[in-house]
Amino acid sequence: MQEKLASQAYKNIELRRTILFRYPPFVYLRLSLVFLYFCTLFKHKLKTRMKHYILILSLIFSLSLYSQDATKAAFVPPFDFPLMLSANFGELRTNHLHSGLDIKTQGISGKKLFSIGNGYISRILITHGSGHMLYIRYDNGYTAIYRHLAGFVSPIAERAAEYQQEKETWEVVITPDSTEYPVHAGQHIAWSGNTGYSFGPHLHLDLFETETEDYVNALSFFKNKIKDTRPPVIHSIMLFPQLGKGVVKGSQKRLIFTPKNAQPIEAWGVIGVGIKAYDYMDETNNRYGVHTVTLSVDGKKVFHSVVDRFSVNESRMIYSWTYNSYMKSFIEPGNKLRMLQAYNDQRGLITIDDERDYKFDYELKDLYGNTSHYHFIVRGTPQSIQPIPYNEKYYLKWDEVNHINEPGLEMHIPKEALYDNVLLNHNVWTDSPGAIAFTYQLNDERIPLQTNSDLYIGVRNKVSTIDTTKYYVARIEKDKATSLGGKYENGFVKTRVRELGTFTVKIDTVPPLITAVNPQRWRTTGNIVFKVEEKETDIHSYKGMIDGKYVPFSWEITTNRIIYKVDPHKIKKGIKHAIELVATDECENERKVNLTVTL
Ligand SMILES: [Zn+2]
Repeated sequence: MQEKLASQAYKNIELRRTILFRYPPFVYLRLSLVFLYFCTLFKHKLKTRMKHYILILSLIFSLSLYSQDATKAAFVPPFDFPLMLSANFGELRTNHLHSGLDIKTQGISGKKLFSIGNGYISRILITHGSGHMLYIRYDNGYTAIYRHLAGFVSPIAERAAEYQQEKETWEVVITPDSTEYPVHAGQHIAWSGNTGYSFGPHLHLDLFETETEDYVNALSFFKNKIKDTRPPVIHSIMLFPQLGKGVVKGSQKRLIFTPKNAQPIEAWGVIGVGIKAYDYMDETNNRYGVHTVTLSVDGKKVFHSVVDRFSVNESRMIYSWTYNSYMKSFIEPGNKLRMLQAYNDQRGLITIDDERDYKFDYELKDLYGNTSHYHFIVRGTPQSIQPIPYNEKYYLKWDEVNHINEPGLEMHIPKEALYDNVLLNHNVWTDSPGAIAFTYQLNDERIPLQTNSDLYIGVRNKVSTIDTTKYYVARIEKDKATSLGGKYENGFVKTRVRELGTFTVKIDTVPPLITAVNPQRWRTTGNIVFKVEEKETDIHSYKGMIDGKYVPFSWEITTNRIIYKVDPHKIKKGIKHAIELVATDECENERKVNLTVTL
């Protein structure tokens, strides 16, 4: 209860701070009006001329602040062609909320990218996940991140290339100071691309408040550049009977139905509701995240969500807010997403304890104000509710530290790592193929955690011929093993996990597989291409050399290819060159490939 109140108070403070921050001109305007009001109260004491002076002065003051804020809040578009989105702000992704806008680049890479404002380049990055990236810190209090770029312009491109050569790594992290690379609105800063974890040419544009580091909706600044007359749509609704507290149609299982012609649904006890809904925009078939959702029951507002800001940490709370792409219209106790608000004392859950019809209304809105409404009836019908089977050991409480102890397994889950209390469906298998430990099912369905937890698994069948660097903790899901890393110490392999699932220990002694892709064509294409495959764990590092000298090979994670675009200024064309590629996996298994090719 205390936690709930604290989080509520936090939300209120946050909201007030947000309003003050976002609407300063209105605040000042109102202050001036109050001042004027007091002036009129004492009007008999002031001369009329004095009164006029005050009126004019306060108006000038308000207007100057207003225009200041208007320029503060302005940005120019990043491209010189019409803007179209392939994804919007806050869209639901598997393990995060989409933090920016995905702007279409007319199906190709290499479009000129322009700075949206005045400021300076504060970070130059090349990463495997987001490709070439730029951070630009703007004078107006916002910082933009441009991701998946094809390349930088001069002199940033040269600076990044020098860094790669010097550190002998593809990945680049440069943090220039405010004087090094100043930029102005409309300045050409890079080329759009499709690098990193990207499945088609586009620009991912993030905007965050420099001070709070909260991601905000960049679309607010380009609203009039994009047409949207289409409201959001609810595709289906899910009812969540609460464990041991509620039933829907005689069952504690979740129930899905479509809002169109929905019949009244019989329920009893405590239930929650969630919706699978998307927003749409004009002239495209893409679907987007929904900006505003309001749920009312019998005309009373119980839940409201506005996707307007979130921090990096909050982004993972999508695991708590959503279930299989359904957005819950209730808040789990450990979920601190500020975008969600509940208006009843049950975090948005609803108690059905009257034999009558409960009228549920949904109102969905997009950033443009396009609105849709949906209604359905839940019919209060007494039904028996199964209590939670009591099991102290496997009933974990979200607001306590939880320790799971099994023969050969230890796990420590910090307080508030879980979003809600859970009853684990646990099991242990003593013989599993390819494993050197028992296989522990902590829960059959994966339960994500907000923070990392220490996991120790005891090794049972130590293989004396294999060194312990080859051990790794594996998560087993549908017979598929995924490496979670880990280090061996005193009979246990220790790692950190951010979920409850099924775990064991496996061995990886096989180095990555490297294949040269069509080396006979490298001379004509100018690209040296290798395919790198790692079956058990993950690629830890790689390094490419030509004639014994480092060259920056990029790693395309979407295609598992390692590529070097031959620089004719450095590599002489038409003669033979010795090419070497080394790749290592997470268990220190190394593969080296050498070949001589005419480039
Ligand atoms: Zn994106």
